[in-house]
Amino acid sequence: MVPDGRSLPGRVTVRLDGQDRATVAISISGEMSHAGRMSVVYLVSSAAYADAVAAGVAAARDHGVILYTTADSLTSSVANELTRLKPTRVVVVGGTTVIGDAVLRMAADLLGSGTTVERVGGKTAWDLAAAISARDFEPGIDSVVIAAAGSFFDALVAGPAAATLGAPLLLAAADSLPPATVAELRRLHPRRVVVVGNTAAVSGGVVAAIQAMGPEVERVGGADRYATAAAVATRLFPSATAVVATSGVTELGGLAAVPLAAAYGAPILLTASGDQLPISTRDSLIGHKPRRIYVVGPLSDVIGGEVVGFADGTITIPTEKATYPASDSDYHDPGELLTILRATEIAYPSLVHIFSIGKSAEGRDIWAAKVSSNVALDEDKPEVLVDALHHASEHLGVEQALYLFHTLTSDYATDPYVHRLVDERVIWIVFAVNPDGWVYDLSGNPYNFWRKNRQPNEGSTTIGTDLNRNYGYMWASGAAGSALKWSNLYWGPSAFSAPETRAIADFVASRVKDGKQRIRTHVTLHTHGELILYPYAYTYAHFPPDMKPDDFAVFRSMAAEMASMNGYGYEQSSLLFPSDGDEIDWMYGTYGIFSFTFELYPTAAAGRGIVYVPGSVIAKQTARNRGALLYLIDSAACPYAAIGKSAEYCPAL
Ligand SMILES: [Zn+2]
Repeated sequence: MVPDGRSLPGRVTVRLDGQDRATVAISISGEMSHAGRMSVVYLVSSAAYADAVAAGVAAARDHGVILYTTADSLTSSVANELTRLKPTRVVVVGGTTVIGDAVLRMAADLLGSGTTVERVGGKTAWDLAAAISARDFEPGIDSVVIAAAGSFFDALVAGPAAATLGAPLLLAAADSLPPATVAELRRLHPRRVVVVGNTAAVSGGVVAAIQAMGPEVERVGGADRYATAAAVATRLFPSATAVVATSGVTELGGLAAVPLAAAYGAPILLTASGDQLPISTRDSLIGHKPRRIYVVGPLSDVIGGEVVGFADGTITIPTEKATYPASDSDYHDPGELLTILRATEIAYPSLVHIFSIGKSAEGRDIWAAKVSSNVALDEDKPEVLVDALHHASEHLGVEQALYLFHTLTSDYATDPYVHRLVDERVIWIVFAVNPDGWVYDLSGNPYNFWRKNRQPNEGSTTIGTDLNRNYGYMWASGAAGSALKWSNLYWGPSAFSAPETRAIADFVASRVKDGKQRIRTHVTLHTHGELILYPYAYTYAHFPPDMKPDDFAVFRSMAAEMASMNGYGYEQSSLLFPSDGDEIDWMYGTYGIFSFTFELYPTAAAGRGIVYVPGSVIAKQTARNRGALLYLIDSAACPYAAIGKSAEYCPAL
């Protein structure tokens, strides 16, 4: 979660969370009452909250709070909050069918004679809005704000705007002005009306009808609800130093946040589903650079991190356009990947550190995460390396790495196994070893069927080295790489001639401490075949001189165990495809790291060569490897435990 009071210089983030809107509202009430006594409470139906949207403006005007109630009774948590606040007035919003008289009686009994309990009623949303306006405003006011009752989130973001303008919020239908709204407009006779929403939300005909009644009309709207919220922020909160971010998909306490937003002169910005902010929300955060950020409702930690990161400049918009086609939008492109990495680092500052292990041939960063408790310290814990996307077209590998990253962070608090692994191991994840190839692959229509990196080959017009033939172990030994520059298996002019493999090698070398390699297990994520591969790739022999028999037994045993978890096959790497200069050969041959290749979904039946799979498979095919990857991480303490020889090899345990 976003840490409360995360304090970059002069910035404060407050997370107001809860399992449902009623709890979120209590959390908001607690936050607001820090600043002073809240003397008015508006009780809104947790089921029919949309009809009560104008109550947010009334609560803001009264320096009050909103709490949600059921139709029949006050829950104990709401009763407790009322007792704590001891308001002088409780206003029940809605007719008796949405909130029964029993609720009023309970509130009156609970709070005693010092509190007035009253009802503001109305059959429909616009009746209620007009009734609240009639109660609070006199004719001759400057402005009225109007949104569509059927566009709840437009009406929601209109709330703080109305409060800031000292205006009531009235409601329209999409294509007509309801009689209650017409009557209230006639009574108030404002100079202007601000219409919040695009023409689909509030039609041009409605605007014309308002103009015919006298006031000038200004429409503030955008292409969708997110853009409308951003437009309201730009137009009516040009110098806001605070923002409130809440869900634009489901009301999760957003209405209760209206008086909070109004108290800080803050606009409400909306988040979408998924793990990326809508562009208009993102741009609004970047534009406002708010110093005070409220994240309201049980939004995901990644989204909370993005709100903070875009606001404080920790996360920036990618300058490079490299995206998946709409049909594969479930995949994360390089910019989205980096946004998630940064946002997760913000959300879990004690568990996650994001860094670059080096630059690609074309100068792109090769991004990595360190995941471990006390992440800032270089503690002596068994370490695990996970990497993906040596081969540019193997997009599912990036998603698998992201899945693991997400699991280790978001499940840390709730899953004891994950918690222990993150406490007791250091997990390094390199998400895309070959960023240049990835970007190039994405520039095709839709893809370029590209495998290698994008390093120019000297003396040739051909491009690229096969990164998984470029490692400095049995490099160019002739097993099955190629000396031909045009080949998809070109091993490069020399071992580690590719900056990308050099970066991996340098990083792994940097994990040698006191003469000991801390990385004990490793997996490189490739597609495809549904196979777990282990060294060696350069030879068919099980026991060449550089393979210890016990180690081979560990490889077999660990592979079998992981295969039993993910349903893959397993075999020595050379059986699938002999290769030289292979990463896992180098990891084991150089450092004795128990190093595996996962060939992800689908099976070999999909054919040889490059196979793209639709984004719809990502969730299932990445979750499938949860157990196997956690086992690999767990095994780093003593891989020899897999063959029952931990006493012999790991006596310290
Ligand atoms: Zn591959």
